[in-house]
Parts: sequence; structure tokens; C-alpha cells
Amino acid sequence: MHSFRYSGKKFFCEGVDVQALAEKFGTPLYVYSQATLEGHFQKLDQAMSGVEHLICFAVKSNSNLSVLRTLANQGGGFDIVSSGELQRVIAAGGDPRRCVFAGVGKSEEEIEFALRRGVYSFNVESEAELQRINRVAAGLKKVAPVAIRVNPNVDAGTHAKITTGTYENKFGIAFEEIEGVYARASKLKHLQLRGLQMHIGSQLTDVKPFELAVRKILPLVERLKAKYALEFLSIGGGLGIVYDPALASGEEVWWETPAAKKILTPKTYAERLIPLLQPLGLRILMEPGRFISGNAGILVTKVEYVKRTGKKNFLIVDAAMNDLIRPAFYDAYHEIVPLRQKAGVKVASDVVGPICESGDYFCKDRPLPKLGEGDLLALLSAGAYGSVMGSNYNARPLAAEVLVNGKQFAPVRERQPVKEIWAGEKVAAWLK
Ligand SMILES: *Cc1c(COP(=O)(O)O)cnc(C)c1O
Repeated sequence: MHSFRYSGKKFFCEGVDVQALAEKFGTPLYVYSQATLEGHFQKLDQAMSGVEHLICFAVKSNSNLSVLRTLANQGGGFDIVSSGELQRVIAAGGDPRRCVFAGVGKSEEEIEFALRRGVYSFNVESEAELQRINRVAAGLKKVAPVAIRVNPNVDAGTHAKITTGTYENKFGIAFEEIEGVYARASKLKHLQLRGLQMHIGSQLTDVKPFELAVRKILPLVERLKAKYALEFLSIGGGLGIVYDPALASGEEVWWETPAAKKILTPKTYAERLIPLLQPLGLRILMEPGRFISGNAGILVTKVEYVKRTGKKNFLIVDAAMNDLIRPAFYDAYHEIVPLRQKAGVKVASDVVGPICESGDYFCKDRPLPKLGEGDLLALLSAGAYGSVMGSNYNARPLAAEVLVNGKQFAPVRERQPVKEIWAGEKVAAWLK
């Protein structure tokens, strides 16, 4: 995918000069490429064509209504983790019957709402949750479709904050205990055991942990299928993307750089997993978030000040950790490019936001072109876990968002009006 690139000295999203968008809508501004969203969906869809499958986009990675609608139009389903996300999917025109409901803390109200809307499956994380879903379903005189999440205890080899498939973390039910849980669940009258689910972590750049996990659970899946007539196996999400173009493979990512073939591609993923999955005769669900949305979005920001100290060159920009928290939260790397390409020497620079936290930075000592006040920059690969983690810290309004499709563009979220930040607050009566 090459939907973000320079043409001449101008940085484009598809057929649109990004600087023109920044001038029209202001900064900080998220810009999404529809072609990239569609392209990534289709690549995975085609790679997995050897098995009956459904791609359930992980809404938590990017929940903008236009992003969801783009993927619904591709025939995708959705992986949701709250009733709020289910309501977003419905508002975007998505089908609840193509939704799986994940998460360790579903409330009774959320379960009831999802049951009434008819989600495809609840992906269950504990026995207490099975009991609760059974009880709520009984109250509604319904049968709830469920899949139980197995924790295969495989190390995904990724960052500690995004690994989920080992016994060190809160997700799923231990591999050794899961059959007992299915046996007890099968006695609950208002549950239908529809599938088995796993998800071992996020930003995996190697196919091996996926393969290990699938190999490990195969005999289990066969036994469960025989006993309970399961319909599906969900192998979760977690496919990693290229953040640093120095690691890009060219074909599978948008960035044109020397090949480093090690990065995970849908092709290698499918080639290694389909031979294992096909004999099961089950519908295969996938829950990719980052793989679809990550490289489909950028965050555009303006340089407010250049501040030189004895040791450092700081570019103080108008975006901050409240707009994109990944560098502060996960030590994440985002490629940073000026919207007008500049030749000449590079200066080791720290790009930092205006928030009063030392953690409010996007990069440190990064060689960047010499930039000045008013210059515009883009933080790339910001489409996943970017805008969705936005906050109002420092009473900063949530950023605006724009969707690009060829030469068309549309604002898909207005910049939050400042007064909306405290709209739900009140001064207590006795203070007046
Ligand atoms: C977060 C999550 C996903 C999506 O993860 P990505 O790394 O964005 O693909 C899928 N399934 C579950 C259960 C998750 O928690």
C-alpha cells in the first residue's frame, strides 16, 4: 500500500495534498486513507480464502464511524469490547450478527443489550462471566451464543503491555482448565457453545507464536468440536505492522524502503496457518485491528516553537500525548515527516507536545530536517490506538478527523468544541 507518499515535495494521502487539509481543518488533525483500509482488509481476506472465514475488525483500534462503515462495506464483521462499541457499529450501519463481544468485564447491562441486538458470539473470559451471561439470557428467555477464550500460554514476544497469551496476564482461561469449563458450561441451559477463541497479543511481527499457539490448541479444538458441535474458531488479531520504514518489506506496507523480509505479511500468516486450520472444518474468525487501521492513518501537527537548549533541539508541536499516547505509553516509534520535503542537513531533534509532562514526547534525538515555526509534520502509522485513546488532559479538545478517498475528502469528526469538555460538569450548589 502506498497511499501516503511524497509527490514532488508535497506529502499526499492518496490524491490529496495533506497540507491543504491541515490548512482547511486545522491541526492537530487525523487523516485516514480509505484505500489503505480497504487494501489491508482485502489482502488478509484474499490470503485467507482457503478457509471459510470472517474478518472481525477490532473496533478498539479505530472506532470512527466512517472507518467502521468502510469495513462494513467490505463485508467485515467487528470485534467489540463494550456496548458503546456495539452502538458505534450499529450507528455506522454494521450488522450486530457479525459482531463478537470480547473483554474481561462485561456488565449485566452490556450483556443484555448485546443479547437483544443478537451478536454472533460472546467471547467469554471467566466462569463467573458464563454464569452471568446464562442468568441474563434466562431473564430474556434467550439462548446466548458463547465462545470461551483459551489462554494457550504462548509468549508472543511483544511489548509487555500488549502481550495477552501467557499466564502472567488477566486474559482467558488456562489451557489445562478449559475442557472442564466447557463441560460445566454445557450444563447451563441458556448458553450455546458456538466456538473457541484465542488472542495471544498485539503487534506480532513473527508468524511463529501464532503457529505455536494454533498447533498447541488443535487437538483441543477437535475434541471440543466433537463434543459440543462448535461452529467456529477465532484465532484473534495481533498481526503487526511496520512503524519504522527501515524495517519495511515494500510489498505489504505503504512505505518504500529497502526490504527487510522478516516482517509478518498476510501471505506468510495464511501459508503457515491455513494448512493447520483447514482440516478442522470450522469457520475461522480473525480479529485484526492494527493490521487494518494502523498504517491507514496519520496525525498532522504544526510546529509552534523551536527551542534550542545547550544539549537539545526541541520542536514543540501542537499535538500532544492526549492526541496520540503511544510513544508515552508503549515506547512506540512513529515515523515523522514534514509535509513539505526538505533537503539539507538533518538535526537531532526531540518532537514534544505542549502538555506539562516529561512523558509528552513523540521522539527523542531523531535526525529531522531543519524545521521552523509554522512548518507542518505528519506522525505516520497513527491509525490504530491513536484517536481512540485521545483524552481531554490539560483541557485540550479531541482532534478533528478527515477521511480521504482518491481526490475526495470529508471531515469525519469535527474538532471538539472546547466548552463540550466540561459540558457534563457542575459547580456544587453550596459553592455558589
Ligand atoms: C485488542 C484485541 C484485538 C486486536 O488486536 P490488534 O493487535 O489490533 O490486531 C483482537 N482481539 C482481542 C481479544 C483484543 O483484545
